[in-house]
Amino acid sequence: MKFTDLGLAEPLLRAVHEQGYDAPTPIQAQAIPAVLKGGDLLAGAQTGTGKTAGFTLPLLQRLSVDKPVRDARGRAMIRALILTPTRELAAQVEESVRTYGKYLPLKSMVMFGGVGMQPQIDRLRQGVDILVATPGRLLDHHGQGTLDLSKIEILVLDEADRMLDMGFIHDIKKVLAVLPPKRQNLLFSATFSDDIKALADRLLNQPALIEV
Ligand code: AMP
Repeated sequence: MKFTDLGLAEPLLRAVHEQGYDAPTPIQAQAIPAVLKGGDLLAGAQTGTGKTAGFTLPLLQRLSVDKPVRDARGRAMIRALILTPTRELAAQVEESVRTYGKYLPLKSMVMFGGVGMQPQIDRLRQGVDILVATPGRLLDHHGQGTLDLSKIEILVLDEADRMLDMGFIHDIKKVLAVLPPKRQNLLFSATFSDDIKALADRLLNQPALIEV
């Protein structure tokens, strides 16, 4: 299997090539075509399997083929939301979004707690296509009216098992309640407890299943 067999557009293939990757990892070979089709996905994958590129590459492609959504002032509105359990993972995932999306005109932002709200509000005002966030700070912004989630088309829950272990289930449910109902949902988890299965049942609509 080669990256060029997966249906990815040239700007993404160029960014992947620059990373020096020879071939897609097993999770990438399965997840990329599945996500490009537009359906929901339930993926069992540990860190280190290449899962981040597995969802980031097709997410970037799906956003890039449609016209950006703009607000009344012409600024990009958030179309993809990636939730992670920790700041460190959020920062890492957003770095991947930047790396793989470097040849696409899409703007990303990372948002987490423990730092000031105002710089994040200022950044949001500049327009964001892809937001990578931890759940608590996301809800803080939403509660203050500084975050518009009404145009979300794709939701990714990364390391969902860790999010539940850290007690984020109520925050996740609150986030789900304010997202538009018609969207693509991707759930990545290293383990499948009953709680994860219940979350997957609630969130996903006839998902493609991938386990590596
Ligand atoms: P992840 O599992 O997403 O945290 O990725 C683990 C590491 O694998 C990261 O450092 C990536 O840069 C690297 N990686 C991702 N995809 C590939 C690939 N197809 N070939 C080689 N390395 C990769």
